[in-house]
Amino acid sequence: MIAAADIGMLDGFERALINNRLHLAYQPKISLVDGTLKRVEALVRWDDPVLGSIPPSRFVPLAERNGLIDPLTQWGLRTALRQWREWHAAGIDICLAFNISALSLEHLDFPDLVERMCRALEVPTERLVLELTEGGTQPLIKMMDTLTRFRIKGIGLAIDDFGTGYSTLMQLRQLPFTELKIDRFFLTDMIASADSRLIVKTMIDLAHGLGLTATAEGVETEDQLRLLRLLGCDVAQGYLIATPLAPEALGEWYSEWQERWPKLTKSLPAIARKQANARA
Ligand code: C2E
Ligand code: CA
Ligand code: CA
Repeated sequence: MIAAADIGMLDGFERALINNRLHLAYQPKISLVDGTLKRVEALVRWDDPVLGSIPPSRFVPLAERNGLIDPLTQWGLRTALRQWREWHAAGIDICLAFNISALSLEHLDFPDLVERMCRALEVPTERLVLELTEGGTQPLIKMMDTLTRFRIKGIGLAIDDFGTGYSTLMQLRQLPFTELKIDRFFLTDMIASADSRLIVKTMIDLAHGLGLTATAEGVETEDQLRLLRLLGCDVAQGYLIATPLAPEALGEWYSEWQERWPKLTKSLPAIARKQANARA
């Protein structure tokens, strides 16, 4: 049964979707090797005139439960692909990461639909990465065929929020992922706790052992960024680097970021300083 509060929200969401009043923000992901912009993750936003700003963690599950996830996914993907083309025309050559609900994977024709959208909007499929979390009615392993078809088409696949769900190591080995995103939960006490550092390092090594890109999400401090570099992590995303941005703000952010990067990577993280002092 749907709660009364949800009915109002569902109504408002459906109207926002139909009337094109949702928008996307884009959060940069940078290379930890040289600070260059690698990709941007599209994140849906809903600012309702009455209800205010509602986070996707509230309305995405509502859309999933009420048959609105497919229209949301198609609107979002089309909008993001159009934006990619604008950036591309302006000389910004990046990959686009897009979040997919596990429910969408249950449609057998979904990979063909995504490919058709890429083709219609002239976006090479190699420039698209789909981010997946578990949570549909079936475990991701049951979607093996669908996931493999995405890869055959050249579309990248990231396992999102890794370490928090019930994605097993066996699934990680069998499924055709290209990127592993370490959940920000593991980064929160990485500086203070040796155990957390070990877990992050293990996840990075696991990703590399399986031939995947290791991405850390939720990087909020300079020490986290420096430590992730020391641990060999490939890509980082988080408020330290940039909050999700309006599309027109990306160029200006990147100019500023390129100036910040050399300063951020000059000194060692606190934990390495502490260890060096202890040894001295
Ligand atoms: P996610 O895919 O894990 O997205 C990352 C979330 O972490 C985003 O929240 C982002 O704003 C937030 N974040 C990024 N850097 C930091 C940081 O340094 N610190 C902290 N505390 N948070 C950070 P957001 O935009 O509220 O999205 C929440 C979730 O909603 C996403 O989690 C994703 O699962 C889902 N979502 C967002 N957009 C879409 C969409 O278009 N389709 C679908 N199916 N799901 C979406
Ligand atoms: Ca994501
Ligand atoms: Ca995530």
